[in-house]
Amino acid sequence: MQLSIPLSALLLRISAMAVLPVFLNVFAEHQEVFQLPPSGPRCPLPVPNSTASFWITTPGANPLAKEGSEGPLTADVDIAIIGSGITGVSAAYHISRLLAETGDAAKPLKVVILEARDFCSGATGRNGGHLTANIFQDFAVYSSRFGTDDAKRAIALETRTVSEIVKIANESGKTDALDLVSGGRNHLLFTDAEVAEADLDYETAKKAGVDLTDVEFLTKEQVQERYGASYPSVRTPGYNIWPLKLVSHLYTTAANSSALSLALHTNTPVTTLMPIPASSSAGSARRWNLTTPRGPISASYVLHATNAYASHLLAHMHGPAGIVPSRGQIIATRAAVPPSVLTTSAYTGNEGFEYWFPRPVEAGQEKPLVIIGGGREATKPKFELYVSDDSVVNPGVGEALRKFLPVVFPGKYEEGQEPELEWTGIMGYTQTGDPFVGPVIDPANPGAHKGQYISAGYTGHGMPRAFSCAEAVAQMIVADIQGKEWEVPDWLPRHHLTQNRLNE
Ligand SMILES: Cc1cc2nc3c(=O)[nH]c(=O)nc-3n(C[C@H](O)[C@H](O)[C@H](O)COP(=O)(O)OP(=O)(O)OC[C@H]3O[C@@H](n4cnc5c(N)ncnc54)[C@H](O)[C@@H]3O)c2cc1C
Repeated sequence: MQLSIPLSALLLRISAMAVLPVFLNVFAEHQEVFQLPPSGPRCPLPVPNSTASFWITTPGANPLAKEGSEGPLTADVDIAIIGSGITGVSAAYHISRLLAETGDAAKPLKVVILEARDFCSGATGRNGGHLTANIFQDFAVYSSRFGTDDAKRAIALETRTVSEIVKIANESGKTDALDLVSGGRNHLLFTDAEVAEADLDYETAKKAGVDLTDVEFLTKEQVQERYGASYPSVRTPGYNIWPLKLVSHLYTTAANSSALSLALHTNTPVTTLMPIPASSSAGSARRWNLTTPRGPISASYVLHATNAYASHLLAHMHGPAGIVPSRGQIIATRAAVPPSVLTTSAYTGNEGFEYWFPRPVEAGQEKPLVIIGGGREATKPKFELYVSDDSVVNPGVGEALRKFLPVVFPGKYEEGQEPELEWTGIMGYTQTGDPFVGPVIDPANPGAHKGQYISAGYTGHGMPRAFSCAEAVAQMIVADIQGKEWEVPDWLPRHHLTQNRLNE
């Protein structure tokens, strides 16, 4: 750990800075708005004609886009996974590995992934590409709410997820193919309140014995010298990646496994889920009938990997006690200086509302494309909560994003420049920020969803969590199939488990 000057001294130094084009210190207000009851119906299905994200529309980036969208439908499966983002595909990947270790190779399980639109066209295909664990951020609040052990597990979950993904990229020799870049992350502190909060989180984590060796506090002078912005920062290890390419790699690995027979049907939305009466399923253990416009599918187990859209099929998850859709917006804009000046560092700022990083330059390019997302707070008081239409962008958010980098990094971005691409995507927010992981439980009817599981609600921070949360639900399903007891992994916060979330 390198704490160059006391944090208290930083407080005095954040003054007289350029006026940022976004609202600051509005997270508390966001949380208040989040608690309000929903005024509209539950989340609809993903809309058609979604905006074009850089990750999806780059030629050749999504070979699985229309996989299984035509032809015969897989009508009978052991496990139906709804959603082909990082959660759904990671679950298939983990199921294949678990079965390869413990399963009956002569009887591969039948698994299908059902996707409403093209492959990986939800949040995973349109996010910011940050793959960075929070290694002490929010520790004070989290530990006071859920205890020190769970706060430490929240860190363990994220560091483990990131290192597992990096290991997969390295061991498969695909680091470059997946665009994995290790540039660290600067969390810029724009206000005194943010500095004080970072200080509190750091000290609380330190007292709890969290390993903070890799944390570095930088003064605004140090940030200016190294990165060209005049704000103090907390620097931690971090990566960025091409999320769709990672998910495609995980899918191909699972599909090549002999431990399961894996099918993928894109452009096949699940519109309803109905129980199969015990009498009509005599001789088979199929419990659920999934309706799709292409025909029905019967399944013994169902995994909801639908994130923001979870409440469409699970009505009890509509509202602040469940998963609230919230629209995020991103622009891809060309920097005015070469990569040697920008470095490969990723950034977050303004309590995490804004996030950005320069992409690796491609052959023939001199200046990097920078992916920057955020600006939801420009739409306060509603913060784009309950907005699930990613076929359009919000002009107010777009304006904030266009102005942001030229103000934060004077001289490194051209003012008034139009982005090369702009898109939206839908995140799934929960009131504590934690995902729901485990069996689906409707508090009003606890036994009604037997065989259904969920991993969803990552609150805009899914890349360092979803892969491992999907592993936990994959373990639960495989253990149930094999008649074994599931043991909660050390790294999974107990507060993520659905059975511990019934009173929210
Ligand atoms: C703009 C934006 C920026 C973000 N930036 C970052 C970031 O930089 N770092 C980070 O860690 N996280 C980020 N996130 C959050 C991260 O992308 C998500 O947490 C993560 O991708 C969730 O993955 P998922 O597989 O659970 O959900 P998704 O990727 O959304 O996948 C769910 C899938 O389910 C499908 N689906 C929904 N309902 C049905 C149905 N009834 N039938 C069939 N299919 C259905 C959807 O079409 C979708 O493809 C961002 C999100 C957005 C939107």
